[in-house]
Amino acid sequence: MYDSIIIGSGAAGSTVARKLAEAGEKVLVLEKRPHIGGNCYDRLDAYGILIHEYGPHIFHTNEEDVFRFLSEFTDWHLFGHEVVANVHGELLPIPFNLNTLAKVYGQEQAKELEQILIAEYGAGSRVPIMELKKSAEPKIRAIADYVYENVFLHYTMKQWGQTPEEIDPEVTGRVPVLLSRDNRYFQDKYQGMPKDGYTAMFERMLAHPRITVKTSADCRDCMEFAETGVLLEGTEFTGNVIYTGALDELFGCVYGRLPYRSLDFRLEHFDKESFQGRSVVNYTVSEEFTRITEFKFLTGQQDTDGTTIVREYPFAYTGAKGEIPYYAILNDKNRGLYQKYADRLQSLKNVYLLGRLAEYKYYNIDAIVKKALQLAGTIRR
Ligand SMILES: Cc1cc2nc3c(=O)[nH]c(=O)nc-3n(C[C@H](O)[C@H](O)[C@H](O)COP(=O)(O)OP(=O)(O)OC[C@H]3O[C@@H](n4cnc5c(N)ncnc54)[C@H](O)[C@@H]3O)c2cc1C
Repeated sequence: MYDSIIIGSGAAGSTVARKLAEAGEKVLVLEKRPHIGGNCYDRLDAYGILIHEYGPHIFHTNEEDVFRFLSEFTDWHLFGHEVVANVHGELLPIPFNLNTLAKVYGQEQAKELEQILIAEYGAGSRVPIMELKKSAEPKIRAIADYVYENVFLHYTMKQWGQTPEEIDPEVTGRVPVLLSRDNRYFQDKYQGMPKDGYTAMFERMLAHPRITVKTSADCRDCMEFAETGVLLEGTEFTGNVIYTGALDELFGCVYGRLPYRSLDFRLEHFDKESFQGRSVVNYTVSEEFTRITEFKFLTGQQDTDGTTIVREYPFAYTGAKGEIPYYAILNDKNRGLYQKYADRLQSLKNVYLLGRLAEYKYYNIDAIVKKALQLAGTIRR
């Protein structure tokens, strides 16, 4: 009945589903949650405020093809996303940049430091914090120490439950110092929100006559992945299967669970116009939560008097009911465990692993949409 089965309706699954359907395939999307959109899912809360159920998602990209593709399903509320860190009560622009330098050291001293930094790394560059720490210049190392201690160390330990040395350089490298006065968190050409929200965008993407979406439908209830082939309701399925869920769960975690960090999102509503006057404040030296997001400043929603915020409390994912695996913990041991699971699918040439869970990898939305577009291009019949 179907040419392809796609498991998961997040950014990865929805994109592939749409492209395969446009290419003429009949596509079945199985989604175990009661809604589509994966972790990008957003909805109105009891006060009419658009919230992101699985953590704040800011879209940003330099990829023209990704932006063009998504724009077929949404208009945009575009803005330059800015974040501040609360460091002992003072609000500092992050990533740490030349404006932050002036706030921390004062104009006079900052001028001198700025010249040293620019001479060493070049104006406008993004220098990973770990690189600054290795500099031979004591004044640069002092800046690095400040950033490391006040912006990076405690925040990272909260987020990952590890010391920074234990963390994969791929993750550490994402924390840059910016040698510019650009306060935006991302420097991408396009950044903002789908105007009516992510859920609406993915609903439109999946609204195609050749796509059938089943929600509250766990693939493990109707499919089997054996060495010899994929079974759907006990019958061999020879079409393409694109799996975007967790790979260990597909095999009952027989080799052990793949480690992840999870997050507890605690929402609070206030009957006042604003809580913090901005979208995101990171707590880099204090508090058990990592950040507070005030949704209306992200979404641009103006038709409401009150405001809703969310605090994020990281913890180690155990697989207990209700917990969600968010961030893969990347190291050699975990990659090895992942590979053991991936090997079990090696003989199945019609099964593709795609997305942050199935590939045990961090992807931004644009990166996974790009990957999904590419995959759809290669597997089309
Ligand atoms: C807290 C947080 C904040 C983020 N913020 C940003 C941001 O600001 N900007 C950005 O670009 N990216 C952000 N991301 C990344 C973004 O969430 C991912 O790029 C995106 O969700 C990846 O989509 P996906 O389809 O791979 O995974 P998911 O969105 O997780 O979708 C996978 C889907 O598969 C379903 N599924 C799993 N197993 C089964 C099964 N057995 N049967 C049926 N269905 C199944 C799941 O229910 C889920 O809906 C953030 C991620 C996190 C964790």
